[in-house]
Amino acid sequence: MLSTNPFDDDKLHEECGVFGIFGHAHAAALAALGLHALQHRGQEASGIVAFDGSHFHAHHAMGLVGDNFSDEAVIRRLQGSLAVGHNRYATTGDTVLRNVQPLFADFEFGGFALAHNGNLTNAMMLRQQLNRRGCLFQTTTDTEVIVHLMATARSGSVVDRMVESLRQVEGTYSLVAAAKNVMIGVRDPWGVRPLVLGRVGDSLVLASETCALDIIGADFVRDIDPGEMVVITADGLLSLRPFNAQPHRFCIFEHIYFARPDSLVEGTSVYEARRRIGVELARESHHPETDLVIPVPDSGVPAAIGYAEESGVPFELGIIRNHYVGRTFIEPTDQIRNLGVKLKHNANGHLIQGKRIVLVDDSIVRGTTSLKIVEMMRRAGAREVHMRISSPPTTHSCFYGVDTPRKEKLLAHRMSVAEMAAYIGADSLAFVSLDGLYRAMGLPGRDPANPAYCDACFTGEYPITLTDRDTPTDANVTYLSEAHG
Ligand code: AMP
Repeated sequence: MLSTNPFDDDKLHEECGVFGIFGHAHAAALAALGLHALQHRGQEASGIVAFDGSHFHAHHAMGLVGDNFSDEAVIRRLQGSLAVGHNRYATTGDTVLRNVQPLFADFEFGGFALAHNGNLTNAMMLRQQLNRRGCLFQTTTDTEVIVHLMATARSGSVVDRMVESLRQVEGTYSLVAAAKNVMIGVRDPWGVRPLVLGRVGDSLVLASETCALDIIGADFVRDIDPGEMVVITADGLLSLRPFNAQPHRFCIFEHIYFARPDSLVEGTSVYEARRRIGVELARESHHPETDLVIPVPDSGVPAAIGYAEESGVPFELGIIRNHYVGRTFIEPTDQIRNLGVKLKHNANGHLIQGKRIVLVDDSIVRGTTSLKIVEMMRRAGAREVHMRISSPPTTHSCFYGVDTPRKEKLLAHRMSVAEMAAYIGADSLAFVSLDGLYRAMGLPGRDPANPAYCDACFTGEYPITLTDRDTPTDANVTYLSEAHG
């Protein structure tokens, strides 16, 4: 027996990328390209479901998009002008192929494929209720509760069933779904996770980020609004607002780390946001006499550019990244994660020798990366190593879809800033303040009564109810071990 309760262990929950295209002769090929551009949102597994006017075709596989969808035969099999796809990011060892999305189910109205980015915070509770009503779950994902809620819904059409189901779920979701001759996109009423609309020729596209539009030559049309459901058919796009309005709370961590810097999310360039956070960081933290500003690649680069610009200290690439290694975070054990940092980065020794440096990274989670990088800089002969972080201390876990470990493993939860500096071996350590972060986003500061973003990982203020965390259920989840595909 295996518990899937994300709150009872250190298993990391998934962050994901979603993509869909309606009305294109090469839908599956473009979906594969879109997923490739969204690879940073999930590297564990991916899947595409296509619809050819009468039949659905699916391919799901563990591993990277390029490894699974570069085969012409695979794409050829995914016939049709409608395709939806998903990249999954989950770091548990128990992943099985059946958890790979898009999920697919046969309904009275026909086939239905569902791709989800986000995390439902009452999924365990709903799962238990559905189990008692006789629903047999095929996967251990939170997303499957939507499918069962749809199956047990009273109303008939795919849209009505989706609306009825989504009114019962709590948490975050950006969904892309396909049924017979229709593609549906939905964002939760808080708008925590991104979803954008694009157009290529006469075809409409839905994607987590605009970088997935760029790769297929699609134009960005607009963001899907929080709480909006778009229903795309041969007749065009129908926009519905079926949910109670909520204050908007886009995830600030998408800007800090998760989204690609060449993406435009919620009307803001991710690169610009990161650069401006670097400017704020340099303005507000004590800036020591130093010779160089060095980013921890790649995610620290835009903030380091902003920091260097504001402080007037030269920016140099003092750490070189090996691009053929995945993100450190996806390594399943601490030992391998430690090794991963070394595999990924190397000091550009001749620059560092004898220098006083400022390192800029986007976040400290467990502290593994910072500890190794500071040590690497000292070995390369740095005289002083000052660490600057372009987010506030990460003190709380995310329950809304970003992959963070449980609170006890977060360095900032256990230690003060001074203790963290000593732990990572830095001469000084500073984080951007919450207000500085909001200023970088173009606001006067953080309005504590109505913050413009979800910043729960920094404040512990969770805007959406955490039913499963607060009233854990035992949903008795068992599943067979399966060969990884
Ligand atoms: P850690 O080494 O545990 O302190 O993690 C911090 C490093 O991981 C930083 O360099 C970040 O760029 C990166 N990071 C932060 N959050 C995440 C995440 N949710 N998934 C993957 N990597 C992350």
